[in-house]
Amino acid sequence: MLYLVATPIGNLEDISKRALSVLEKCDAILCEDTRRTSILLQKYELRKTLIPFHKFNERGAEERILEELRSGKEIALVSDAGTPCINDPGQGLVQACVREGLLFTAIPGPCSLIQALVLSGFDSTKFQFVGFLPRKGLDELRKILCYPGTSIGFESPERLVDTLRAIGSLDAARNVAVAREMTKTFEECRRGTASELADHYEKTPPKGEIVLLVAGGKVPEEEMPLDELLELLQELHGLSLKEAIKLAAKLKNLPKSAVYKQAHKSC
Ligand code: SAM
Repeated sequence: MLYLVATPIGNLEDISKRALSVLEKCDAILCEDTRRTSILLQKYELRKTLIPFHKFNERGAEERILEELRSGKEIALVSDAGTPCINDPGQGLVQACVREGLLFTAIPGPCSLIQALVLSGFDSTKFQFVGFLPRKGLDELRKILCYPGTSIGFESPERLVDTLRAIGSLDAARNVAVAREMTKTFEECRRGTASELADHYEKTPPKGEIVLLVAGGKVPEEEMPLDELLELLQELHGLSLKEAIKLAAKLKNLPKSAVYKQAHKSC
């Protein structure tokens, strides 16, 4: 049986009794960084066999792990922090277990994007997770800003100000939140418009780990090129081309025939 065990994202006390008992009883623990996981195990006085399992050996190690699982071994998988498989190794292994009908389960616990969503106070009835925020160009960011619910992404301290400025250039009034160092001593969650927060972090360069949240809204449509708007309406909102043409014509105040022509030109 494979156990995907969520571990703390900072505060080592954020681990469930069930997670600890799984770690205690399993035959081995797969982990991203043995030094990092050793710190957690030491705190709870657990002595276990640790097997490195990270993005560089994930694929190669899979067959051996499946062999162990087939032979009835109990194996736990943890990442450096938070929930395995969420921007962390594990998904390939889960897919292999599904394919082979091998038993697995997930032991719930901390997950930085959910923690950040709760702290932000933004709409939590509708949200999307975009992984690490796009690094270049505004097109991907513009798509994210068109999502009507909350968008959640990871960001590095070095890139935070640039990303906030880029968001501000697309929508000056858009509310964002920066959730930093959650569950740790210097935890903060700062809210404001993108340019307010860019000004703040330019003066006080951020340190540590960051989740950036963008409240739902709309980028003024007239600024968006027609072909991009059509693509967005189809991809993000699941409209058919016909429906997208109708809506785009309405949003841009253009005759449907003109939008139809343009749509078929770019096809
Ligand atoms: N699997 C993890 C989870 O469930 O939270 C996410 C792993 S991802 C590779 C690492 C990113 O998560 C960091 O770059 C940062 O954006 C975010 N993160 C992790 N811990 C955090 C914390 N304590 N505060 C803020 N962000 C955090």
